[in-house]
Amino acid sequence: MGKIAKFAIGFLALFAAQLNAQKITRYQLEPNKLVVEFESALNASDINDFIINPTQNDPYRRVVDIKAVYADKPFIDSKSGSVAVKIAQFNAKIARIVLSREDKFDIAISIAANVLTIEFATKKIELFGGYKPVVTIDAGHGGRDAGAIGVNKQQEKEIVLKVAILTAKILRDRGFEVAMTRENDKYVALQSRTSLANKIKADIFVSIHANACPPPSKLEGIETYFLSPAKSDRAKEVAALENSVVVDNMEKYSKEAFLNFLNREMVVSSNKLAIDIQRSLLFYARQKYAKTVDGGVREGPFWVLTGAQMPSVLVEIGYVTNKEEIKRLLDPAYQRALAEGIALGVESYFINNLHP
Ligand SMILES: [Zn+2]
Repeated sequence: MGKIAKFAIGFLALFAAQLNAQKITRYQLEPNKLVVEFESALNASDINDFIINPTQNDPYRRVVDIKAVYADKPFIDSKSGSVAVKIAQFNAKIARIVLSREDKFDIAISIAANVLTIEFATKKIELFGGYKPVVTIDAGHGGRDAGAIGVNKQQEKEIVLKVAILTAKILRDRGFEVAMTRENDKYVALQSRTSLANKIKADIFVSIHANACPPPSKLEGIETYFLSPAKSDRAKEVAALENSVVVDNMEKYSKEAFLNFLNREMVVSSNKLAIDIQRSLLFYARQKYAKTVDGGVREGPFWVLTGAQMPSVLVEIGYVTNKEEIKRLLDPAYQRALAEGIALGVESYFINNLHP
């Protein structure tokens, strides 16, 4: 080998060393998953993951450092479900991915050639020590009760049944046990809905509805309600009646105290469930329609929830009276997104609250 050839090889080797840094060419954020593609095959030794434990005001953070640089996109700051995702160049040689959430969560890192996949908060059922959570999905109205009527006479009962059936299917596929209060167009009395949930000892009760507000209102958007402690005497009586099986043998005074205790526990859990569902619902709905309006998490004295002996929420998936939103509510792809949102919100709730 001549001098020039040697020099050329030496030069190329040096040049290659400079360029040797692995490059991120592409990333994709999917539900509960981040997929990152590199220019060439990745080594496990190029990856270092660790946890930054939460202090009082900080979220729980999982960090994945990769010996790599970005080819183009320098920074992302986004969200998948309840997990916030940030990617940035930490220093000249290390790209850093930070996944954060208020509560503890697990991640699973896998490498296949030049693709790195980080799945988070998806270790669902095994997190519950083999326990299969039981969920009651309640499609609002049915039969002679059409529910809200849309701009072109569309019926709430039909739309919510479709979303409820899809939600139940997704949850079952993900390992949950699901009972539905109705699976077709039949009339079901309000009290039978929660008594079914009570009978099977469901862990949670989710009632799916669509909202209405007649013109000239143009209200639109998604809201999730939970039952707050009964304030009126009448509402207290109703709650007491529904809890009578549990409190029958107690003195009147301790009945009241017990009821308050029950309520407080349930209200807190129902509030958490509502927050998880609302957050997830918006995330998935906005994948299909970016401007989906966030109507927020609200409290309300919903009769259908008063009998539930478990955390319960009522989801309003949109307004049938809004002439744009009703079109989306009738679109099977949007219905599916709503169902995914509800199902994965339910899953987040169990991960957040049953995690050891
Ligand atoms: Zn309704």
